[in-house]
Amino acid sequence: MVTTHNLGFPRIGDRRQLKTALEAYWQNQIEAGQLQETARLIRAHNLQLQAGLDWVPVGDFSLYDHVLDTSRMFGHYPARFESPKDISDLDRYFLIARGRGSRDGATEAPAEMTKWFDTNYHYLVPEWTRESSFRCDPAPLLEQIGETDGSGIKPVILGPVSFLKLGKSVDGCNPLVLLDRLLNAYDSLFASLIEAGIEWLQIDEPILVTDLTQEWRHALHMSYHRFQRHPLKLLLTTYFAPLGDNLRFACELPVAGLHVDLSRGRDELASLIDWLPAHKILSLGVLDGRNVWKSDLNALLDWLEPVHERLAERIWIAPSCSLLHLPVDLRRETALDPELSNWLSFAVQKLGELQILAKALNQGRPAVAEALNENARAIRSRRESTRIHNARVQQRLERITPDMGQRSASYAVRRLQQQQTLHLPPLPTTTIGSFPQTGDIRRLRRGLREGSLTPGEYRERLRQEIADTIRQQEAIGLDVLVHGEPERNDMVEYFAEHLQGYAVTRHAWVQSYGSRCVKPPILFGDVERPTRITVEWTRYAQSLTERPVKGMLSGPVTLLNWSFVRDDQPLASTAMQLALALRDEVLDLEAAGARIIQIDEAALREGLPLRRANWQEYLEWALKAFRLTANGVAEQTQIHTHMCYSRFNDIIETISAMDADVITLENARSADSLLDVFDSFDYPSEIGPGVYDIHSTNIPDINQMCERIRAAARRIPAERLWINPDCGLKTRQWQEVIPALQNMQQAAQLMRKELFAQRPDQD
Ligand code: GLN
Ligand code: ZN
Repeated sequence: MVTTHNLGFPRIGDRRQLKTALEAYWQNQIEAGQLQETARLIRAHNLQLQAGLDWVPVGDFSLYDHVLDTSRMFGHYPARFESPKDISDLDRYFLIARGRGSRDGATEAPAEMTKWFDTNYHYLVPEWTRESSFRCDPAPLLEQIGETDGSGIKPVILGPVSFLKLGKSVDGCNPLVLLDRLLNAYDSLFASLIEAGIEWLQIDEPILVTDLTQEWRHALHMSYHRFQRHPLKLLLTTYFAPLGDNLRFACELPVAGLHVDLSRGRDELASLIDWLPAHKILSLGVLDGRNVWKSDLNALLDWLEPVHERLAERIWIAPSCSLLHLPVDLRRETALDPELSNWLSFAVQKLGELQILAKALNQGRPAVAEALNENARAIRSRRESTRIHNARVQQRLERITPDMGQRSASYAVRRLQQQQTLHLPPLPTTTIGSFPQTGDIRRLRRGLREGSLTPGEYRERLRQEIADTIRQQEAIGLDVLVHGEPERNDMVEYFAEHLQGYAVTRHAWVQSYGSRCVKPPILFGDVERPTRITVEWTRYAQSLTERPVKGMLSGPVTLLNWSFVRDDQPLASTAMQLALALRDEVLDLEAAGARIIQIDEAALREGLPLRRANWQEYLEWALKAFRLTANGVAEQTQIHTHMCYSRFNDIIETISAMDADVITLENARSADSLLDVFDSFDYPSEIGPGVYDIHSTNIPDINQMCERIRAAARRIPAERLWINPDCGLKTRQWQEVIPALQNMQQAAQLMRKELFAQRPDQD
């Protein structure tokens, strides 16, 4: 018999109940007990939804983040959060997650947050020092185990070596010096779990799919040899990529079972079977836990059946990874058109597919003939649908030529031309695009959706909003203006709504961090742009002012990385289709008079594969897509791009090869660490390293911004510097934005005097 299990289930709730409860608690509207009750109900519901499986995960739930939970379990919070003393454990937990937004009004910055491998989920980074110590508090996990009837449950924990590797050393110590101390705490956890009657424990070591040095492998080796002495069956769990050069090593670790991501690493199956010792369970992650498509069950069975025959009950089957990265339940999505809906599978549906597979393996395909036929029809309908295949798009793809991604002149030539048309002062000031998304704007959008506003009324009201935004920017004195993006609920969803081949959902939320969720659109078919998307807004904004207004687009790679993307063709081809559609928009903006066009690639870095060896291929097509989007414009049109992160050292050559005229970057939030890269790399064109952090409600200080500009001018010639915030302002309030930008403008004026007074002939 084949065994079914699941690695983790979404915890936000099918109606985002956890989000609502968390935010109510943070705003003092409900008590801790009510929040805990909501959490308990979600867990109970999740258990029900997974009830048909042989092993259901427990402990995969989290009030905010499972890495922070691991820190809590092992008594390891950064020292600065030890005070205040008189707050509850729960409030301290949120204090670390959220910093001073917490209930008690303390002023600490939160722990750093970073991306969980190559997903869009963010975890709270543990902080290590040489003195870090650990203890074990299994109570919250035991409590969750206690909520079940105890049968068929499999607690889930993060393994010690991944935990250490995901943290950061704050005093320069090697985190591995802490391993022995940490393993003592794990020993004590195991003892508690054994006492609670646990048979199987899922222990996640996702770092096994990344490049590991000998030292880190050794740590894994030590840890799992030591754990052998516990009478507990460990399911060592890996996901998000093939094991690659860690495969044999992972097979040999002394555990009871190994879980692998076969949706991304199917090629490894034969080696796994060869290397895995005969007494071990092999858990096959056969269903893609990262994407929303129905699996082709018959095709899966074609290769699973022989494996099952060979390994019999040693085979377990599961989704490839935790279902945390999927929306909960497709049945909520009633407005989606039935044809598309029939191709999709969210968390609940994936588990249904898993059970069909198990039954087919255990009792033969005829036992589930009906379900398999239905699945085959859905797969065929998707494969053959005319909505997916668009001959015009295919033809355009074939006609892409290298010169389409090539500006007609070098940056040096373009710069002169652009200076003549733009007449900008040195250190030109601008923003990243969005201005506050106020309650009023959101109400307008709802009004349009629900029919209380006609499209004409909606358009008129947005125009008023744009006119206000232009007036505000002129009053502040900014040099390059934006229309403010009031029409965009989200920088990806807005474009998805306007492109063919894309669908947007109403309820398909996925947790990004804490109470924050995202609703990635679904890119299902060949992408085409039926009509212009942003041109009218930008043109209207430009009609109100003499100053240049930037046209604003989200870039192809960002659209791709923040969507659920079709899995029936290489990502590179999909990226090129997006690029062609956006290129048309760029050219239409230019034709409508835009002298500056910004193409945001906020998520370009996020798409980097987990293994270094695969970076080059990704960067090549990402670069090609950007260049195809941007570089069809005339020499005097200035192309900007924006990226909201500061870790650039390792991809600076790609960034430079995008050949944008101006790039604006996050810098202030990450304490100028961005600038180091410009010590060693001579970036050829213009750069706007953010002078203030837009995540903070504080009004930035003029002197501090001047200092940042000075620091930038030490590395980058001042003639090529721009002055701008770190990122868009949509999450801020107008009463914060106006004084902040006024200060920024003043800082720019002071620095123009300081840096350019002696050089009046420049610019
Ligand atoms: N133009 C977008 C904005 O200002 C960019 C957002 C982003 O980089 N994430 O909101
Ligand atoms: Zn940004």
